[in-house]
Amino acid sequence: MSKLDSASLPISLEFFPPKTPEGVEKLAMVRQRLYPLRPQYCSVTYGAGGSTQDGTIQTVRAILSEGFDAAPHFSCIGASKGSVREQLAQFKAEGIRRIVALRGDLPSGYGGFGEFRYASELVAFIREETGDHFHIEVAAYPEMHPQARNPQADLQAFVTKVKAGANAALTQYFFNADAYFRFVDEAAREGVTIPIIPGIMPITNSSQLMRFSDACGAEIPRWVRSRLEGFGDDKASIQAFGLDVVTQLCEQLRRGGVPGLHFYTMNQSAPVLGLCERLGI
Ligand code: FAD
Repeated sequence: MSKLDSASLPISLEFFPPKTPEGVEKLAMVRQRLYPLRPQYCSVTYGAGGSTQDGTIQTVRAILSEGFDAAPHFSCIGASKGSVREQLAQFKAEGIRRIVALRGDLPSGYGGFGEFRYASELVAFIREETGDHFHIEVAAYPEMHPQARNPQADLQAFVTKVKAGANAALTQYFFNADAYFRFVDEAAREGVTIPIIPGIMPITNSSQLMRFSDACGAEIPRWVRSRLEGFGDDKASIQAFGLDVVTQLCEQLRRGGVPGLHFYTMNQSAPVLGLCERLGI
């Protein structure tokens, strides 16, 4: 693929809502450093780490006011139809046209699921209530969602979610491109035609990566894990190695014709800028 083709590969950026005024300021600077990459849109997580919908909306509002498209993540766990309806009305009033629709996870000690059991029910409800107003992204798991019975059942759940009205899917991060390509092929055999965009996690901090990966079921290949462990606290070596590994992964994905790349920025600019520079984006 030529440099021109790489430059035109669509990218999107994911942020989480900062909890402190300093965090808000820092994220505003991070965004300014990343905007020259011309992201198609930026998404903002919700609920993860106890964040509130207010923090998500405030960050989305800031991004929209800076002239970029923005999508709040919206999880339905514990929600009622009435509360979702109100939230959709607020999104419309704010000029939001995209949503990343999720089930979310029950916080420990939380009572019940609410009126939505799966993300597919949320997607269907959004379509019933608002027609085609929103562009809806959903989550996909090339290495299987950790609570799924087996990969086949998880694929069927994904297909149901797509048929409920999703426009595109963003994957959980992974370091094994084969898992992604297999998932995409299997989804295509089930009639899925929407873009399935790989989620890319830069490697910058090994203990955090191990923790996240254990929680979300993303596999860190043994050779990557043992190299990272071997670097101990040597941050520079971890980052240099991480940049090599993730650049190679992105190159493999690009050669395989992915429809875009979705970067989990972790509210930092340097790792994504480093990757995009290596990729010629
Ligand atoms: P679902 O698609 O509903 O799937 C959940 C589980 O139920 C799966 O195991 C699936 O196989 C199973 N399932 C689905 N339908 C059926 C059915 N009909 N019958 C039987 N089983 C079924 N979490 C947050 O809290 N905030 C965020 O902002 C956030 N952003 C994310 C962004 C991305 C790109 C990704 C990949 C994940 C994100 N998550 C976020 C994590 C996500 O909320 C969790 O992984 C959650 O456990 C599942 O959400 P889901 O939308 O994939 O659920």
